[in-house]
Amino acid sequence: MRNDVFSPAQRSAVMRAVKSRDTGPERLVAKALCATGMRRRYRRCRVDLPGKPDFTLGALHKVIFVHGCFWHGHDCRRGARRPKRNAAYWSAKIAANRKRDREHAQALAARGYAILTLWECELRDAAALQARLRRFVAAI
Ligand SMILES: [Zn+2]
Repeated sequence: MRNDVFSPAQRSAVMRAVKSRDTGPERLVAKALCATGMRRRYRRCRVDLPGKPDFTLGALHKVIFVHGCFWHGHDCRRGARRPKRNAAYWSAKIAANRKRDREHAQALAARGYAILTLWECELRDAAALQARLRRFVAAI
């Protein structure tokens, strides 16, 4: 017997919403930020800022994006991969994502925000990630 309050379709929508907020890569960055002493100084997913940055260091006027290599078209092996089916569709979709990322970055810069973009493929080395975050936080 099923006692889920959601229908299967609703349930998967809920799970998607949860996942978009707390995917593995973002958790890694949150952990690294805590390790750099920023635990209480960042906020997640500020919807009032262009592009809804994954992390916002409000007092410092700095934002961090964590981008999936495939979805945001990173210049790496994973980012270069394209599904064989509907290749044109995916290429157009990823190009649109990249364009939107650029527009968000420009809008944030216009508001005086410094931006750090972290790619999924760069997160494996925890020490390197922490060092990068420290540099970003300390930069004026
Ligand atoms: Zn990558």
